[in-house]
Formats: sequence, structure tokens, C-alpha cells
Amino acid sequence: MSYKNYPMVARIVFGRGSFNQLEELLEPKRSHIDAPFIFIVDSVFKGNAWLTGRIPLKYDDKIIYASADEEPKTSQIDELVEQIILDTKQKPSGIIGIGGGTILDIAKAVSIMIKNPGSSSEYQGWDLVKNPSIYHVGIPTISGTGAEVSRTTVLTGPKLKLGINSDYTPFDQVVLDPELTKGVPKDQWFYTGMDCYIHCIESLNGTFLNAFSQSYGEKALELCKAIFVEDKYTTEEAQDQLMMASWHGGMSIAYSQVGVAHAMSYGLGYLLGTKHGIGNCIVFNHLEEFYPEGVALFKQMKEKHNITLPQGICNGLSDSDFDTMINVALSLEPLWENALGKNWKKTITREKLKGLYKKM
Ligand code: NAD
Ligand code: ZN
Repeated sequence: MSYKNYPMVARIVFGRGSFNQLEELLEPKRSHIDAPFIFIVDSVFKGNAWLTGRIPLKYDDKIIYASADEEPKTSQIDELVEQIILDTKQKPSGIIGIGGGTILDIAKAVSIMIKNPGSSSEYQGWDLVKNPSIYHVGIPTISGTGAEVSRTTVLTGPKLKLGINSDYTPFDQVVLDPELTKGVPKDQWFYTGMDCYIHCIESLNGTFLNAFSQSYGEKALELCKAIFVEDKYTTEEAQDQLMMASWHGGMSIAYSQVGVAHAMSYGLGYLLGTKHGIGNCIVFNHLEEFYPEGVALFKQMKEKHNITLPQGICNGLSDSDFDTMINVALSLEPLWENALGKNWKKTITREKLKGLYKKM
């Protein structure tokens, strides 16, 4: 048995208003006045002076607004990298992502691809990246994915929706300022928050579970329950606590894996463009047989917060569409092995998955 030696986020700032310290964090990392910082910012913040007015631009530093309407694609990353290389006199001093999981993943992928040749699609998988990424900073504005702490950046490529999992993926610096999440719409708060909840359930009920993952998973689950079931906190406290739940949930899956909901949700995402948070909710809602307690509590939370999930999203799909989703889902072998053990192929057949997708 050989144990994995994982890198972690090197530096972290936590606190309401800590975003104001961005300049003092970045300036020592500027390699040259011709080597700018590139801020990749969710376009939802365009024109929002409260946030963008605090981005410390100097010299050739640039803001690039990116939409989170669709999840990141390898082609999008390749274009962004080309644009950045063409537009800057020297390789950038760093990439700073400000937004949700979508934007954080774009920032991670761009920072890798600035230093690695070819297309980002060539690096989807595990440990395929050869050269270290450039300095990159993650500043989440919505909580739940754990993308701020994880060792992956999830991209949709020509063949698969699959992460670039590598030692060069984690951020060098993260700024956790819960105040930045204040404008998140209620439904989205629930969907992305449930991503964290589902990370906990899949990690804690997985065969890969170990004391490391359990310690983080249990803490994240406790916080999710306090926020989504028990209403234990004021609005501001809940923002703080959900940001920490996201962090712990991400740490929990770092040393284990996610499971059935994520595998099947990636299939939906690949074929239909269903986004991660809502896609996980749509799938998880039908997974009683795998996670009975987790799904029961999920339904309770959904009810409590008046969330109505889309239904019938697989109606009218062709056999080849189902095949596409099933191929994506089944390609994620470590997720199935975590969920069901080494012999998962005995119970998870293509027909089984088709039956589940048809319910959604
Ligand atoms: P998101 O980044 O897709 O954003 C969801 C919506 O919320 C968008 O419309 C966005 O504009 C909006 N939004 C974000 N912050 C806001 C704010 N403060 N105020 C108002 N609106 C705001 O959401 P997400 O759920 O955080 O991220 C999903 C993505 O994360 C997917 O692409 C998924 O693949 C990825 N993901 C990555 C990892 C990882 O470890 N790398 C883990 C899980 C999910
Ligand atoms: Zn997730």
C-alpha cells in the first residue's frame, strides 16, 4: 500500500472584508511590471463597484469577465490562454479567479495551461500535467463546491466531462471572505450548498472512507445540517459557516472520492449542460437505494426551503443520448468504486443507469 502525498492550498486568509487585503497579498508576487495579474471575474459582477472597485489594478493588470452560465469547456480555456499570451508582454505574474466553482475552475485551468503545451483536453484525467502552473489565487463568491480547496478543475472536453487532477491544480492562495456571497440568489444558494452536503454523504458512505476524510466530512455535514435544517444561524453567521462547510467538504473528498450522484450528474452535465449543483440535486433525489438517510434528509431540506427541482429532463432523449450519458458516468470508475466497492460492475449495468436517468 502506498499513500498519496497531496499538496494543499499554500496560504489562506479568512474573514469578512478580507477581500480588501488583496493588494498586499498580490504585490509581493508580481514578478515584473510587464508581467500583469489577470483577474478572471464572474460577469455577474460587471458594473458592481462594491466588488470590482476593490480589485487592485496596476500597470498592465487586467480584468477578464467570464460567464458562469455554462460550465467551463476545454476549448474556452484554450482560447483564454491564447488571448492572455497574445495580450501580455511577459507571462502573467498570476491568475486570480473571483466567482463560484465555474470561475475558480477556469482560473485553475488557465494557470496550468499557460505553462503547458497543447490543449487543456490533453490533461483531463489524473496526474498528466508536467509543468508547474503559474501563481494562482481563488476567491469564492458562493459556497459549496469545495473548488477553492480541491486538486481538480472540472472541464467539459470533446470526449468527456473530467477534471484536470494534478499536484499543480490547487490554489497558491485562497481568500475566504464570506461577505462576497451576500448576493447569491436563494435557489442557487441551495443547489451549490447541496453540492457540499452531497460531498459529505458520498464521502462518509464510501468504501474509501478513512479517518482523515471522516473528520472533515463529519464537520461539514454538521454545518450543513445547522444551516439547512436547524436554521441555527443569523444570515451572516450562515454565510461564514457555509464557506467553512464547503472547505471541509472539499477536504473530505480530497482523501476519498465522491460517488453515484456525481458520476450520474456528470453525464447530465455533458449531454444536457445541466449545471453541477442543480444536476447533483436532480440525481440525488432518486438515489434512495444507495444513500437512504442522506436522500431522506435532502428531501426534507428541499421542502423546507421551497425548492422545486426540474422534472422530466430526460424525456424524449434518444437511445444514443442515454448511451452518451451512461458512457460519461461509467468512465468515472473511482467514483463507483468508492460508492460500491471493487465489484461495482456486478450491480451497475447500463440498463440500471438508464432506468435511473429515465426517472429524472
Ligand atoms: P457557479 O460558479 O456556476 O455559479 C452559479 C451561479 O451563481 C452563476 O449564475 C453565478 O453568476 C452566480 N453567482 C456566483 N456568485 C454570486 C454572487 N456572490 N452573487 C450573485 N450571483 C452569484 O456555481 P458553483 O455551484 O459554485 O460552481 C459550479 C461549478 O463548479 C461547475 O462547473 C462544477 O463542475 C465546478 N465544481 C468544481 C469542483 C472542483 O473541485 N474543482 C467541485 C465541484 C464543482
Ligand atoms: Zn460536487
